[in-house]
Amino acid sequence: SGLHLPQRVRHHAAERPGAPAVTCGDTTLTYAELDWRTNRIATALSTLTSRGGRVGALLRMRTEGVETFVAAAKSGLVFVPLNWRLPAAEAAAVAVDAGLEVLIVESEFAATADAVRDALPHVVVVVVDAADGGTLPPGVWTWERLVTSGTATDPGLGDDPAAEVLQLYTSGTTGRPKGVVATHRNLHNEPDGLLIYHWKPDSVALDALPLFHIAGAGWLSTCLSAGVHVVLLGAFDARQVAELIERHRITHAFLVPSTIQMLLDVPGLERYDVSSLELVAYGSAPITTTLLRRAIDRLGCGFVQRYGMTETTGSITALAARDHDPSGDRAHLLRSAGMPMPGVEVEIRDVLTGARLPVGESGEIVCRSRNNVAGYWKRPDETANLLTQDGFLRTGDAGHLDAEGYLFVTDRVKDMIITGGENVYPIEVETVLAEHPAVGEVAVVGVPHRTWGETVTAVVRLADPSDAPDEQDLIDFTAARLASYKKPREIVYVAELPRGASGKVLRRALREELRDTEV
Ligand code: ATP
Ligand code: MG
Repeated sequence: SGLHLPQRVRHHAAERPGAPAVTCGDTTLTYAELDWRTNRIATALSTLTSRGGRVGALLRMRTEGVETFVAAAKSGLVFVPLNWRLPAAEAAAVAVDAGLEVLIVESEFAATADAVRDALPHVVVVVVDAADGGTLPPGVWTWERLVTSGTATDPGLGDDPAAEVLQLYTSGTTGRPKGVVATHRNLHNEPDGLLIYHWKPDSVALDALPLFHIAGAGWLSTCLSAGVHVVLLGAFDARQVAELIERHRITHAFLVPSTIQMLLDVPGLERYDVSSLELVAYGSAPITTTLLRRAIDRLGCGFVQRYGMTETTGSITALAARDHDPSGDRAHLLRSAGMPMPGVEVEIRDVLTGARLPVGESGEIVCRSRNNVAGYWKRPDETANLLTQDGFLRTGDAGHLDAEGYLFVTDRVKDMIITGGENVYPIEVETVLAEHPAVGEVAVVGVPHRTWGETVTAVVRLADPSDAPDEQDLIDFTAARLASYKKPREIVYVAELPRGASGKVLRRALREELRDTEV
């Protein structure tokens, strides 16, 4: 059997037909069921689309999303999960950008589906939860109709490693989201399973990440390829994460830092039995060492960090479980994103000249591997900017390598603050401020300044809104721990930090706001 998702699912269905593949709420599909149902969906989709066409999904976490992903892969189609946190007009704009031929949708998102049908008259909309007996307009199908209109034979178009299989949009943290097209070869992730997750036949994986981010789509593909049981988190709620871990004896989970934070803050968390957890993988945004130490302490399982991006179809480095011992003399490694995965080359290059920089020096992180995508969807200029002459991909992240080869991701190149000629990476300042007891959450940005170019400004959400410390307190707290030019000149208190549709803090939004209110 081959290495890619369709062949892996077929393999598990033949070897262990009755093994559970995916559970959401009260619905469980075995590998045999997943395999035959996706054959039917795949053949049905083939009749509705052109070769290599785009099949969109606007679904929360549910089994139909998993089935659509596998079915599209089997039929040589490209799966395009859309971010359901986007406002209807923006989601519709993404659907149009992708040129969807089919859109699988939940009735909750009917307004977006209507906007897509207006813009793309030939699109077939499939409603997964259409009310029984209701009549649907022409061009709108029920999920049942899709499943039953197909035939039982795998179309067999999922075997070409160079075929496009997934189109995701970047999170839009530094600009407008960009479409990224990945092939089977890009998505292939065998080293992850072998070296990082150490799957056992009875492993149970929690999937709490939406499919529209690479961390989510990659994690699902990794888990199904390994043949483990995947439990989907329905509606997002941190208490549900704890409940599902206990109920399904979850062994593996991939969580993002904000979810870890919410999970640890669940009142009465200690009453849940989370002892089944063997490994928590985390990544997709920076984590503070404070939060990481709390999580290690509270959850008591192995931790593995992944660093990567949509354009690299998932992680390029991993910080191994053994590097998470916070008491050892290697505790500084908790700030590292780990070592490159086998087959991945990582270098640090000068942002302006592109020259390769030596160990210890900070610059832009670039990487080369078969997981690098060929480019963006319909954005030739941005694609040209993404890839270097010698086949490396510019991550847009700043960082350095140490002598042993550990990668330290400092921050986004675009977020670096230049104040009085000195470079300040916001995360370094945020990490220090996050340790102040009054600080609930903090984002640091550069605000334009006549003399200094930019000044360091900290935007703080207080742990307790009724207990704001004196601004100078926080400034002194930072000055005592960092070089003086890194300390904030100004502290701004806010009720909530602005976040993008993927939950990441939007420093660019803060910059714009502060620029407008500048004194
Ligand atoms: P956009 O490219 O549209 O601005 P984005 O870069 O946030 O948005 P993604 O591709 O979803 O979109 O996220 C990748 C980015 O997430 C990386 O470039 C990096 O900045 C950040 N990231 C991912 N993993 C880690 C990690 N382990 N530690 C720190 N940052 C991480
Ligand atoms: Mg990016």
